[in-house]
Amino acid sequence: MTETNAAKKNAIAAVEAARDDLVEVSLDIHSHPELALKEERAAKTIADSLESSGFIVERGAFDLDTAFRARWGKGPVTIAYLCEYDALPEIGHACGHNLIATAGMGGALGLKAAVSPDAVTLLVLGTPAEEDIGGKQLMLDRGAFEGVDVAMMAHPAPFDIAAPPMYGVEEVHVTYHGQAAHASVAPETGVNALDGLVTAYQAIAQLRQHIRRDSRIHGIITYGGSATNVIPDRAEAKFGVRSLQPAYLRDLKARVERCFQAGADASGATVEINWNGVTYEPLNSNDPLAEAYRTNAEAVGRKFLEIEVSSTGSTDMGNVSWALPSIHPTFGIGAIAINHTSDFTAASATDAAHDSMIQVAQALAMTGVDLIQNPALLEQAKAAFQKTRRA
Ligand SMILES: [Zn+2]
Ligand SMILES: [Zn+2]
Repeated sequence: MTETNAAKKNAIAAVEAARDDLVEVSLDIHSHPELALKEERAAKTIADSLESSGFIVERGAFDLDTAFRARWGKGPVTIAYLCEYDALPEIGHACGHNLIATAGMGGALGLKAAVSPDAVTLLVLGTPAEEDIGGKQLMLDRGAFEGVDVAMMAHPAPFDIAAPPMYGVEEVHVTYHGQAAHASVAPETGVNALDGLVTAYQAIAQLRQHIRRDSRIHGIITYGGSATNVIPDRAEAKFGVRSLQPAYLRDLKARVERCFQAGADASGATVEINWNGVTYEPLNSNDPLAEAYRTNAEAVGRKFLEIEVSSTGSTDMGNVSWALPSIHPTFGIGAIAINHTSDFTAASATDAAHDSMIQVAQALAMTGVDLIQNPALLEQAKAAFQKTRRA
């Protein structure tokens, strides 16, 4: 165990003392899954808990009903812990955001117990709609991160990784318009919108073999006609395009659009291509902060994956990470399950998951202590951020 000073010991003890409350909040969120921007119960539960712990809480912050900002202290260094709490359709908390919320809360409670309110301005930001819409981008646009020096959160996953790669992603909704006709009496008079979409789907499936391995394309057909005996005059699909490299993502988007156009050309249908306009940026982890987090997490018993992974997901924390020094480490929850499966939903409510969440909250709090006690760390974090920052 590396040097654990008195302040860090206080942080560790405060998180441990809050264990029962944090687990209760986690289980409450887990058993009442709410979708993006509808997380009323979760936001209220967390805000109530922080308020009773001495934070000044602004609910419905930044013109978002289910966002909040909780504040304690008025020191010169502003540290924000982020809480996500939205769920997925049908499979509930299959991304374990109940554990993100409580790790963020716990981190804040730990730091609050360890440092003076004259040394830190401690924020807990409730950030809705991670799985859809990109709530953190809305909060960035509305000033939620102005004046914030550092933003930290941690995400459950199969393994602990201090600075995980996370893809940038953009989503597209595509609609083909054709001409309806009786499928038996007069098919020759129809233009088959579904054929256009299927041709495009196949073209994209072929494209996938020839893209970089740090990229992904995936999609679903959401409408393909209403009756087998009617030539479909409309067909719709949604696709996601991901890459670790922003420039390559732009290139891939153009190639996917050519696949859509090929479907239109082959079938004679017309195609409407609507990118949803929300970009989740690739994650720009702040290395000095990630290293400090890892040291602290190891000191409380976390074990990190020692091999590099390239297979990953995306997060709207990516957008925050290009605006200020940020970390988004992942942590294992004692299960082999992978995010966005019903197995992960079940794993996110276990004692093992909560033991992990408590350790991660302690490590987040200790990293906050480092930032307050060691001004050089904040300087290094800012210098590293300036270097990675895009022109
Ligand atoms: Zn997710
Ligand atoms: Zn998630």
